[in-house]
Amino acid sequence: MLTHLKTALIVYAHQSQVSFNAAVRNVTMQELTEQGYRVIVSDLYAMNFRASATQDDIVGDLKNPELFQYGEETMHAWMEGRLSDDIVAEQRKLKDAELVIFQFPLYWFSVPAIMKGWLDRVLTQGFAFSLQKMYNHGVLKEKKAMLSFSTGATQTMFQADGINGDINITLWPLQNGILHFCGFQVLAPQIFWCPSHSPPAARTAMLDGWQARLKGLMTEKPLTFAPCEIFNLSFQGGFLLRPEVRKEQESEPFGLTTGHHLGKPLPPNNQIKAPPAGDSDTTADCRV
Ligand SMILES: Cc1cc2nc3c(=O)[nH]c(=O)nc-3n(C[C@H](O)[C@H](O)[C@H](O)COP(=O)(O)OP(=O)(O)OC[C@H]3O[C@@H](n4cnc5c(N)ncnc54)[C@H](O)[C@@H]3O)c2cc1C
Repeated sequence: MLTHLKTALIVYAHQSQVSFNAAVRNVTMQELTEQGYRVIVSDLYAMNFRASATQDDIVGDLKNPELFQYGEETMHAWMEGRLSDDIVAEQRKLKDAELVIFQFPLYWFSVPAIMKGWLDRVLTQGFAFSLQKMYNHGVLKEKKAMLSFSTGATQTMFQADGINGDINITLWPLQNGILHFCGFQVLAPQIFWCPSHSPPAARTAMLDGWQARLKGLMTEKPLTFAPCEIFNLSFQGGFLLRPEVRKEQESEPFGLTTGHHLGKPLPPNNQIKAPPAGDSDTTADCRV
């Protein structure tokens, strides 16, 4: 019997099994399986995964039926083993996985609603984060996660001077606000620019490029984010950057991260490229 030591989870959101996203998912499954991974796919549309966060996610009595507070109620339900079966099943997969790949077509500068529902419902407080365990101290900090997505837009449309604006800004809420908030080490996203309007050979080249990247994926350095330590972690302190760090940063030409830009130019490619190996510039200050 084969014993698989490593598990990868692909959270997949596309309605068609012959779509470009399905082709990407198939490449991922094949390549990771060859590398010895047990690959689990959560095919959200096929599963008819429920996107809305409601009280149906809790089994049994609510703590406060007068005022329903989803976050509070699901945290208690998680502690007491009273979350709905579909959430428990996804949390089990996530617990097993050392690598999580979110595979989707970009919808309105974000993930499709069904995938947002997965994030809303599966990343329960307590299971995925707490106020003590967030960002570089996050519950899921031993795991790697990445976004792999296709666009309708071309790459130049998502440049800082392109019509859609800078892709780094588009990715910040997903990569910092969700993935890194829960602790994930976030690998650089895999972006398939405009497959619908690319010639077949270009699409094949995109898939080949992804397969080649997958071979070294787990040795890649993650993206850089700001560690909790540089902030004053108290409500009195407003969770603001510590004054001494702010002072140190004054002479730096770029902001710390895409979000912590400190009124300066954004650090180039902060949300799409990991710093090169051995890089010891100022961005190292915010490496965890
Ligand atoms: C609600 C909504 C919101 C959107 N918002 C945005 C947005 O904010 N920004 C943006 O940029 N885009 C947006 N889009 C566009 C969307 O991101 C693209 O339509 C999508 O990414 C294309 O991916 P796909 O997998 O659906 O492509 P498909 O249409 O499935 O495939 C593209 C082409 O690849 C071919 N193909 C399939 N398999 C293979 C294979 N194995 N090898 C080679 N070719 C293959 C297909 O036959 C097809 O010709 C939005 C779309 C919707 C519906």
